[in-house]
Amino acid sequence: MNSLIGKTDHAGVWVFCEIINGKIQDVSLEMLGIGRQLADQRGHKLYAIILGHQTETYFNTVWEYGADIIIDVDDSSLLCFNDEDYAAILLRLLRKYKPEILLAGATANGRALIPRLAVLAHCGLTADCTALSIDQETGALLQTRPAFGGSLMATIRSDGFLPQLSTVRPGVMKAMKRKNPHPYELIKEEIIASDLTNLKRVLEIISEESTENLQSNAHVVIAGGRGMGGKEGFDLLHKLARIVDGAVGASRAAVDAGWVSYGIQIGQTGRTVQSRVYIACGISGQMQHLVGMNSSDLIIAINTDRNAPIMKMADIAIVGDVFEIISKLIKMFETIKG
Ligand code: FAD
Repeated sequence: MNSLIGKTDHAGVWVFCEIINGKIQDVSLEMLGIGRQLADQRGHKLYAIILGHQTETYFNTVWEYGADIIIDVDDSSLLCFNDEDYAAILLRLLRKYKPEILLAGATANGRALIPRLAVLAHCGLTADCTALSIDQETGALLQTRPAFGGSLMATIRSDGFLPQLSTVRPGVMKAMKRKNPHPYELIKEEIIASDLTNLKRVLEIISEESTENLQSNAHVVIAGGRGMGGKEGFDLLHKLARIVDGAVGASRAAVDAGWVSYGIQIGQTGRTVQSRVYIACGISGQMQHLVGMNSSDLIIAINTDRNAPIMKMADIAIVGDVFEIISKLIKMFETIKG
């Protein structure tokens, strides 16, 4: 199918900015980072789309992270996310302003909202993208995501449909502060009666308290796998993490074994981290794990098997018993710190 890029009046890169409990989500700032690059390559404006209540508090932040234009829909009925109402409003905005690209986070809300919108707007959607770029030849959005259980990366184009919709995996793209001082333009949109389906009403929000949760912005991540042998092995990793002010993560094998909770799983079906230092302890490095950590700056792997896949991609590969090496590291840091 032929690409529609450049053959219609669609223009602009939109980022749907997600707000939860009064906080703009990190993934939205990360998408503004990649959105800025895509918009510059296309010679288009970058739009931040904000739906919510008392939204003016977010304007400066989205501008600081790159937005040229803010489309703001501020109404008390939008205080709590509602996929049906949000989709109806976005559909109206898409038809009015005709963007070329719309990005949203591959979060629980994004996953509910954007497929619904794609059906209503009759356009293609690539979900859970880990890389985005512009095809130099056609100007189309190249959307890369793991496929076939993570055993390969697929790059997908939504030829024949505009806008091109993508959901983006949290923690993969880099949030970047703007370089030019141009002020933002603000477009205020009102909601109309037909936007609100009134099919459901949020009565109360009860936050789930998770005992163990990995911060996706941790600078040092010490992740354990099956090679940690059990819960006790992870106690050692927690000890090291406390000393270096890091966070503990895990492979799915360790989570499935019940040694640690799902909240710290890293990989295709877990979280994505982009730490300064990533220490993989007793992790073999299957593709499904690597997609969740391979954009970390410095990767250190500790493994008894020198041929394990992780040892080949690590910046520093230490062949040896993880218990011995982590114990030595703990002693070393304790001595340094006095
Ligand atoms: P193993 O592959 O068993 O590796 C254990 C490693 O520990 C080995 O390399 C071994 O040499 C080493 N070792 C053993 N003892 C020691 C010791 N004393 N000292 C040092 N090294 C030692 N996996 C994820 O991690 N995250 C995901 O999100 C994820 N999603 C998936 C989604 C799908 C659809 C599928 C099919 C799989 C997914 N997996 C995921 C599973 C993935 O394929 C691997 O099975 C898993 O990552 C393996 O975990 P591991 O490396 O801890 O275990």
